[in-house]
Amino acid sequence: MSSHSAKATTTLPLGPDSITPVGVDVGSARYLFAAASPADGVGGAATVNADYAHRLYSEFQSATHRLGTAPDYVDDQDRLGDLVARYWPRLRRALECAADQVVGVARAHPRAVVVLEDLSTTPRPLVEAAHGAMAWADYCPAVAQQLLADRALDAGLAVAYVPPEYTSQLCHECGTLGDLGGRGCETLTCVNDDCTVGEVCRDRSAAVTIARRYHGEA
Ligand SMILES: [Zn+2]
Repeated sequence: MSSHSAKATTTLPLGPDSITPVGVDVGSARYLFAAASPADGVGGAATVNADYAHRLYSEFQSATHRLGTAPDYVDDQDRLGDLVARYWPRLRRALECAADQVVGVARAHPRAVVVLEDLSTTPRPLVEAAHGAMAWADYCPAVAQQLLADRALDAGLAVAYVPPEYTSQLCHECGTLGDLGGRGCETLTCVNDDCTVGEVCRDRSAAVTIARRYHGEA
């Protein structure tokens, strides 16, 4: 088929503009996930809290602390294995349930792409967190993000990665580097006098920035 003339007047129904990037910020404190498309904005961002998963992680670490008093090293290793076998499936299930909420949010958008930050960390096995060797904030993001990517792919969604620089510090609206002070470092304040954003939840703002970055807009 020859057709340079036809192409000039044809609009593809599903061009790149019809893809909806749904940015997901993965945290460890207040929210495990914050998810939003550019059109959702911070007001329409969905959040999933980290409380239950964090509690399981803390319980696991507390249980491993008690192992140190056992006299026999081999027994300790067996007990550690038992604890991992007991806690990892529960923790994974908690993180997957949270991830599935994000997948549900993404699927509500037309031709959604789940957009994640290209983190420099890789998921670590739970056993490495024994005896308090790893803080939740260090353990959680890579593991939660990997499980989310798996669940999204399982659900038939596309997953994309964008550079992670300053996603929590840039104003999602104007791109100015904001002020991270404020209550529990949970807020971002835009310092651009010409911007109307003011103080905003930094996780929600990061989700929008991540989504916009998919099209090179942030
Ligand atoms: Zn701003």
